[in-house]
Amino acid sequence: MKELKDKTVLITGGGSGIGKLMGELILRKGGQLIIWDINEVNIEQSLAELSILGEASAYKVDVSNPAEVKEKASLVLQEHGVIDVLINNAGIIVGKYFHEHNTSDIQRTMNINTAAPMYVTAEFLPGMMAQNSGHICNIASSAGLVSNPKMSVYAASKWAMIGWSDSLRLEMEQLDKNIGITTVNPFYIDTGMFAGVRSKVPILKPEKVARKIIKAIEQDRIFLTMPWSMHLVRLGQGLFPIRFFDWFVGKVLGMYSTMDHFKGRKE
Ligand code: NAD
Repeated sequence: MKELKDKTVLITGGGSGIGKLMGELILRKGGQLIIWDINEVNIEQSLAELSILGEASAYKVDVSNPAEVKEKASLVLQEHGVIDVLINNAGIIVGKYFHEHNTSDIQRTMNINTAAPMYVTAEFLPGMMAQNSGHICNIASSAGLVSNPKMSVYAASKWAMIGWSDSLRLEMEQLDKNIGITTVNPFYIDTGMFAGVRSKVPILKPEKVARKIIKAIEQDRIFLTMPWSMHLVRLGQGLFPIRFFDWFVGKVLGMYSTMDHFKGRKE
């Protein structure tokens, strides 16, 4: 998607964090922005701030509810026509040991982080396929590449998202469709979602992450992994004995204790 000017871009979870920042960048580039979010207060605040920059609208949607996604998607298609760019960004983290999760924690995480991007994409992909153009950007996580204590369910949700997202890319290529798919795997970002996390590897700045994601969409990149060194995770897992990998990632880089002081967002 070389040019975002005059393109209609829908961002889920666009009321906060990198979703909101990406929305701002889309408007500055002359695109039309549609925000989907579950948090009404954030929606109103974002709309008040972003509408000054261009054409922005917002809908309250729980993306993990397939019936609601269907209903709101048909409303969006009626009001705005085909969506040119979809950014599946909404996500949550519970942040505790697996044995401390209850069924609702597991269901919410898997539904919002993994199933919801599929529900939303299923609604907007047919329009893109019919016009043979479009772009879908799926915000996964470096937690989808590396295992980590106190985020087992989150990691599972993002590993699944990566597998789905990149398979979708291959399907569009196999069907010769001009629809780009970008899978994004950022390390911790300083948005508040992972408040309390301590890391030797620097925590990413939200503004920089948002800029890089928009650039990746414009350049039709397949994967955007931040920092770049996270690409080496899979190589390391394949090359080295797992105990050596654990020692390096867990002890030397301190990765396996980054969640020790996790607080997250206070809901
Ligand atoms: P954030 O909490 O600031 O934003 C998430 C947004 O999703 C919020 O506006 C929230 O209201 C919305 N949301 C949550 N559940 C929803 C639902 N059911 N329906 C609709 N909207 C819903 O978080 P962020 O840091 O900007 O994260 C954005 C994405 O980036 C997430 O998918 C997250 O997993 C991913 N990510 C974040 C980090 C990080 O460290 N913050 C790192 C890697 C990946």
